[in-house]
Amino acid sequence: MAKVVHTHAASLNQQNNPLNPLTDFHSLSLRDLLEARDLYHLHLTERKGVLATAVGRYLIRQKDSWPNQRPVVKHSGPKTLSNVHIRPYSWPCVLVFVEKWVSEHELKRSGYKATDVLPNALHMPDGTQRVAGSTEASRGCKHLCRHCPIVPVYGGAFRVVPLDVVMADIGAQVSAGAEHITFGDPDFFNGPTHAMRIVERLHAAHPTVSYDVTIKVEHLLRHRDLLPGLAATG
Ligand code: SF4
Repeated sequence: MAKVVHTHAASLNQQNNPLNPLTDFHSLSLRDLLEARDLYHLHLTERKGVLATAVGRYLIRQKDSWPNQRPVVKHSGPKTLSNVHIRPYSWPCVLVFVEKWVSEHELKRSGYKATDVLPNALHMPDGTQRVAGSTEASRGCKHLCRHCPIVPVYGGAFRVVPLDVVMADIGAQVSAGAEHITFGDPDFFNGPTHAMRIVERLHAAHPTVSYDVTIKVEHLLRHRDLLPGLAATG
């Protein structure tokens, strides 16, 4: 019988820690994620039922409410690749793939120990935290991928956010302590000229601030000549 693969996402940030005042800043760089994944891969895969780990963005149940939506609906049952999706605000995380979803009260009956439970957060050994902010250089997306939650909202429309507006937003967050900026654009290279102007201005104004973006593979290939510019600016 084929095994059903379920996902569990262990967030790297500490959203449930009431003592951590930085939990609103939920973005980490790819390097941070890879470091955490390398550090925790063995600890996670030695737990019963764990098949693999990966880095990605937090997977949210498709039927859960969106922010500010009323009434608030938050499901707690099995998460599978067929009932989750990535939303524009999904935060970076380490993904853990398990062979089946087991609720906590069924652990013992299913042959699992308490030590097999996956953690909700991963803590780095040096205890460092990087304050990260987020902004958008564009809204919507030119593409019409059928699985994507952006499409019903924007219908293939794409709008850039004016350069000065983005820079003012970034400047305010850097003044508040942000050391890293996540661009929440559905696809940063829907408007590559605008995107490159933004990161060049960001780097010129805040040379120590890093950033991350999401780019469709097709756009990465088409605009591969721009990749050194991304690497050079953050
Ligand atoms: S390219 Fe990405 S953001 Fe745009 S419609 Fe497709 S999946 Fe959605």
